[in-house]
Amino acid sequence: MCKKMKAVVKDKPGKGAVLKEVDIPNCGPEQVLVEVESTSICGTDLHIYEWNNWAQQNIKVPQIMGHELAGKVIEKGERVENVEIGDFISAETHIPCGHCYQCKTGKRHICNDMKILGVHTDGVFAKYAVINKVDVWENDDSIPPEFASLQEPMGNAIDTISAGNVAGKNILITGAGPVGLLAIAVARAFGAAIIIVSEINDYRKELAEKMGADIVVDPTSSNLENVVMDNTNGIGVDFAAEMSGNENALKHSLKSITSGGSMAVLGLPDGSVDLNLTDDVVFKGIDLHGITGRKMFNTWYTAKRLLKEELVDLSPLITHTFSLEDFEKGMKLMEEGNCGKIILKP
Ligand code: NAD
Repeated sequence: MCKKMKAVVKDKPGKGAVLKEVDIPNCGPEQVLVEVESTSICGTDLHIYEWNNWAQQNIKVPQIMGHELAGKVIEKGERVENVEIGDFISAETHIPCGHCYQCKTGKRHICNDMKILGVHTDGVFAKYAVINKVDVWENDDSIPPEFASLQEPMGNAIDTISAGNVAGKNILITGAGPVGLLAIAVARAFGAAIIIVSEINDYRKELAEKMGADIVVDPTSSNLENVVMDNTNGIGVDFAAEMSGNENALKHSLKSITSGGSMAVLGLPDGSVDLNLTDDVVFKGIDLHGITGRKMFNTWYTAKRLLKEELVDLSPLITHTFSLEDFEKGMKLMEEGNCGKIILKP
């Protein structure tokens, strides 16, 4: 096998990244080497590409970008027992320490010393990538690689929607970015009754409808609480999933929930937010859940079953497919927000 491969590398601080020839990574004793068939761009990759404050503090250059993938195992380390050469896999991106209080009490997705694939390690926007054995997820062969690579963000959506026990409930999702769009499909599959989605971008409003939203509201032209009340007999939604990271969306979401309802927050506001905790959370008896990543590996089992049994259709979500060479076209579309998920093919 040739010893070099093409990879998208964050080569220096500042905006941008380059496609360059790099060494194929060595597979350690507790790692597998994967031939990547499909990868997808995540908001985190965009942050690294744009070199925002978070990226400046967390990324050590040079580093191969990317963390969502599907591919075939072509080599495995001597201490890897859970997977065979030729297996079709994807990867969890949390790399937990395995020793801290959280890891030892069944919560390794919130490990105290968490490392992340493609953030603290070289990533998967490449022809080949190494994955730690703890993160290997064996895919069902019937799932197309493009869908299989979306199981990681789908896990975010599954974790968030699971917090609401949404079967038969009326729900609100604020933010129809890629994860919010996945959440619509998941909520539909979980049996939600009315799914109201709030989104400000026209392209994504249309995608929200295609993914199964019943009502799509633009909070810049309609009053979200009024729309929610009009469509829930004046009761409000039972559950809200905040997936925009926008402070106003968070505030209006809380006001749209019926007393005794619940909310899960996945979106990450830039800084602290100003909430009326007394009126909007405490006196309403709202259950508030913070969501970090996805549970290892509960959400992966759910994602696999939903995809294998075709209970969700991710086709409308995949709006663009580019070769690795054209990764900048994908980053530009992500910046504009005129896309769902963007697939990169090595
Ligand atoms: P994204 O930024 O692509 O999507 C956010 C969407 O919210 C966009 O479509 C945007 O138009 C919309 N939006 C902005 N302001 C709005 C408003 N006032 N009302 C309604 N919609 C509004 O992000 P994504 O990749 O889909 O991820 C969703 C959020 O979750 C982001 O904040 C992201 O940082 C965060 N995230 C958190 C975790 C975690 O572990 N907690 C994991 C993944 C993503």
